[in-house]
Amino acid sequence: MQQTILHIDNIFTALQKELHKYKQPIVSRSKSGIPDTPFVTLISCLLSLRTKDEVTAQASRRLLKKYNTPETLVQLSEKQIASLIYPVGFYKTKAKRIKGISQTLLDKYQGEVPDEFEELLTLKGVGRKTANIVMVYGHKKHGYLPIDTHCHRIPNRLGWIKTKTPEDTEQALKKILPSEYWDDFNDLFVTFGQTICVPISPFCSRCPIQQYCTKVNVKSSR
Ligand code: SF4
Repeated sequence: MQQTILHIDNIFTALQKELHKYKQPIVSRSKSGIPDTPFVTLISCLLSLRTKDEVTAQASRRLLKKYNTPETLVQLSEKQIASLIYPVGFYKTKAKRIKGISQTLLDKYQGEVPDEFEELLTLKGVGRKTANIVMVYGHKKHGYLPIDTHCHRIPNRLGWIKTKTPEDTEQALKKILPSEYWDDFNDLFVTFGQTICVPISPFCSRCPIQQYCTKVNVKSSR
């Protein structure tokens, strides 16, 4: 594993220049008519798990335009939540989780989303990725690195790290990625992974950072 990432500034600059024309990922995108609160970030992130961004965007709008606080959400039945968020993946389980979390926030945190990472992890259905996303995009805190499938795959392809799980990637990247890049990393690499460095057969011929990439385990590309 590298101790530092060579050309990191050039890489981030090239990605930012290329990717600004694409839509931001759903969890960090501002949502018209919906307040930008840690609760909205948390619920959008839960809805987005294993679901395409556009499906998540529409489900978030249907649910969160009117019900964007724990107080209003607990008034709904699981069935009502499920019908508002359908067809996101696992919509019945997510409806149950969302209602459960809203109730916990009211019972234990006066209706606020905790701004402590470890506290967030105690909420049922909240894992490291969601907790990191809430810290970065909900509470606007520095020092967190949310890792999803794109953020895990691409640094491995680039040859920055050699890891098997997103959890390992989070720890490995924190050692070699200078902290001034952490806030932008998730947004940038999710967009990059959805548009150019896609999971199967990435578009290397139009990749703005091709000269910095070792293409580890890339069997075919376009
Ligand atoms: S060159 Fe290909 S594999 Fe490497 S980062 Fe670019 S798109 Fe991904």
